[in-house]
Amino acid sequence: MSRPIDDTHRLDLTSWVESAQEPGTDFPIQNLPYGVFRAPGDSRDHIGVAIGDKILDLARCRYQLLLKDLRGDVQFVSAADTLNPLMDLGVNHWQSLRNRISALLTEPGMKSRVEPCLFEADEVEMRLPAAIGDYTDFYASLEHATHIGSLFRPDNPLLPNYKWIPIGYHGRSSSVVVSGTPIRRPSGQRKGPDDHEPHFEPCQMLDYELELGFFVGGPGNKLGDPIAIEDAENHIFGVCLLNDWSARDLQAWEYQPLGPFLAKSFATSISPWVVTLEALAPYRCAPRSRPAGDPEPLSYLQVGDGSQAGLDLELEVDLVTGRMRRREEGPHRVSQSRFRSMYWTMSQMLTHHASNGCNMRTGDLLGSGTISGEERDAMGCLLEITRRGAEPLVLADGDERSMLEDGDEVILTGRCAREGFATIGFGECRGRIQSAGAHG
Ligand code: CA
Repeated sequence: MSRPIDDTHRLDLTSWVESAQEPGTDFPIQNLPYGVFRAPGDSRDHIGVAIGDKILDLARCRYQLLLKDLRGDVQFVSAADTLNPLMDLGVNHWQSLRNRISALLTEPGMKSRVEPCLFEADEVEMRLPAAIGDYTDFYASLEHATHIGSLFRPDNPLLPNYKWIPIGYHGRSSSVVVSGTPIRRPSGQRKGPDDHEPHFEPCQMLDYELELGFFVGGPGNKLGDPIAIEDAENHIFGVCLLNDWSARDLQAWEYQPLGPFLAKSFATSISPWVVTLEALAPYRCAPRSRPAGDPEPLSYLQVGDGSQAGLDLELEVDLVTGRMRRREEGPHRVSQSRFRSMYWTMSQMLTHHASNGCNMRTGDLLGSGTISGEERDAMGCLLEITRRGAEPLVLADGDERSMLEDGDEVILTGRCAREGFATIGFGECRGRIQSAGAHG
């Protein structure tokens, strides 16, 4: 079920693109994530592959006949302007394209033909990687659910369904934006504890949520047909960083009885690079073992002993305030956490989503839910860190934050490391808060 480790992951593999060998790069030759970019002066979007500080233009590779012995449909999708047609093809084709790109960027004899297909990454505009049909957000961190629950129900933080069902809600795909897009502070109905009635005004409790997004690909399931847990990863193309911006005061007033609505749908940011499950093969791990006394998942959600359904991914949240930017200070590290601690795996979330026969489609985006550990410096949103604002976060320059202020920029990063393998990164997912009255 999981993807194989092969020659494309070898630690001693090097690229003739020199920046791919620089220590600390997110994009060594072993990564090869896909994104969509627009080159300066171009009117079309192209699919690109990140390599060091460069981007390989797949459409140009096709025109240069560098993909010519791949199957026709693989060549065809390489010249598309979204990742959807590539996501649609399925595991075998994803593997063959990865093998080819790896060869193009490693074989010294290819350099003269491939070099004209490279762009400087900092000279292009990154776009949304896919046309996202549906967006669903889960709630798969036990620690996050427990911390949030304890703020509202100190005696009974976890609701009884949590350990049986991967909890989720249907989000809004139209407001998913690529990293770097400004985030306008939303307005909405809010009602303070002392207010007699609600007011419509700018959100005063604007928060971020550190999450992993994963894209559905491969053959979709027909309406009515569930996806078996053993088959789930064949329906997952790759993953990205995701920030589920949240208006906590709007959420508190609107969320009962049907769950989040306008508190979430004003914006969701994702990183531009989609790291494929092929690239992630070396960093898979056993899923988190359930604490003693917890129920076993129902059989349709059981992943089996020895499964590699987990993912060992380290994540970090950094904050740059307006004041820090004016003083040209570096970002403040707010938290670090690990995806391997999630209570539910990606395949459990996807299988549960389709278990009622709901058809999943190529390009659908699923969010993991906020990724939190036990400790304060591993919590994935300010609501948890500040205990709903009661214990503000103190920044390195002495400034304090209960929630986000205008001008604040949140930066999510992630990387996978394992001894004997390259360290690969996810790039960045950034968003800066604009005032409610900002234009454009
Ligand atoms: Ca969320």
